[in-house]
Amino acid sequence: MALLDVDRAWRQVVGLAQPIAESEVVPCTDAVGRVAAADIHAPMALPPFDASAMDGYAVAAAVPPADGVYRWRVVDRSAAGHPAKRGVGGGEAIRIFTGAMLPAGADAVVLQEDVVRAGDVIESRHPVRSEQHVRRRGNDVAQGGKLCAAGTALTAYHLSWLAACGIDRVRVARRVRVAVLSTGDELAEAGEPLAPGQVVDANRFALKMLLKEKPAQLQDLGRVPDQAEAIRAALADASREADLIVASGGVSVGEADFVRQALEESGSLEFWRIALKPGKPLAVGRIGGALFFGLPGNPVSTIVTYLLFVAPAIDALAGVPPRPPLTVPATLVTPVRHTPGRREYLRGVARPVARGLEVAVDGDQGSNRLGTLANANCLVIVDEKVGDLAVGDPVRILLFGGARGHPIGTLD
Ligand code: AMP
Ligand code: MG
Repeated sequence: MALLDVDRAWRQVVGLAQPIAESEVVPCTDAVGRVAAADIHAPMALPPFDASAMDGYAVAAAVPPADGVYRWRVVDRSAAGHPAKRGVGGGEAIRIFTGAMLPAGADAVVLQEDVVRAGDVIESRHPVRSEQHVRRRGNDVAQGGKLCAAGTALTAYHLSWLAACGIDRVRVARRVRVAVLSTGDELAEAGEPLAPGQVVDANRFALKMLLKEKPAQLQDLGRVPDQAEAIRAALADASREADLIVASGGVSVGEADFVRQALEESGSLEFWRIALKPGKPLAVGRIGGALFFGLPGNPVSTIVTYLLFVAPAIDALAGVPPRPPLTVPATLVTPVRHTPGRREYLRGVARPVARGLEVAVDGDQGSNRLGTLANANCLVIVDEKVGDLAVGDPVRILLFGGARGHPIGTLD
């Protein structure tokens, strides 16, 4: 069977992930990372009134006097939270501070450092433009203006903007229910003593930690032995509740690889062999109402395939319009050996230099080596069409963001 290229696989995956319909209202303080279920409009203008952007004097802009010296009489004061009692007329000024209400009649603020004050009179030789140092009502958002579109993954920045407009609750898609399980007779729990031949279940741990950054609710199905019946039972159980099931291990062609078999029996399963390294065997399908991902067992393969396919599927289920990940250019400072045919995602360490980014790639990219991910800050993409790369060659990278987990951003 021909290998599916990564981009086509990505499009198929996000196409399978239809947004869940249910939503709920949550306090904005609990909404970071949640996805807006509807467009959000400003219930009021921001700023709510015309205000000064600087400390100085509010005046009505006027043509310069013949001698080039403006003179105003200071008639009142407007401080933040303490508006002036009156407006300004011709030749009058009101002492004003940053964020204070602009008095009626004023359309400009003269900087305090640009005036000379003697008693109630100020003088300035600086030209006065209408609108200078003025923040008009609604210049950040007009009343009724759109704050965010449905499908926006809400950040601290969105929510701060909403809060500034007086919004304290927001309707978001309900969390995507994600069931996680690991398969393998060799797996033990971290903290347990290891019997000969056992290894700690690192994949379930990794997935659980990465899911904390997603609008997801975890259902931990634990470790399941390499037995078709046990796996089938776990999957059937998970599919009753979950929107998405993610298993690791047991999808390659070894003797003890029962996940594919269990899926073929209990779900509609498309088995995709993807032109990807690490992560060629990747089972994608459906069980009941749930989307299913069977990720390869080596921890780095599990994590990379999660980042490339599962994380975008979770976003799409939560209603985020699918967009390809944001890649940035970098220059290799280490050579890379690569056989054309599969796209490779290498763990790299990028650092800024005078012109952009340099990236180093560790020579041993074994997919068991979690340490190379722990010390990386990006994934270096080596195109399926190219061969070996040399020092100085340009590449594109996916920078890790958030809590150094998921890559930063998507393309619009
Ligand atoms: P598999 O995909 O089941 O053939 O597993 C491939 C390799 O990954 C084997 O060395 C497994 O022991 C290892 N592996 C599978 N699952 C896990 C896991 N949950 N945590 C750590 N290593 C794993
Ligand atoms: Mg296994």
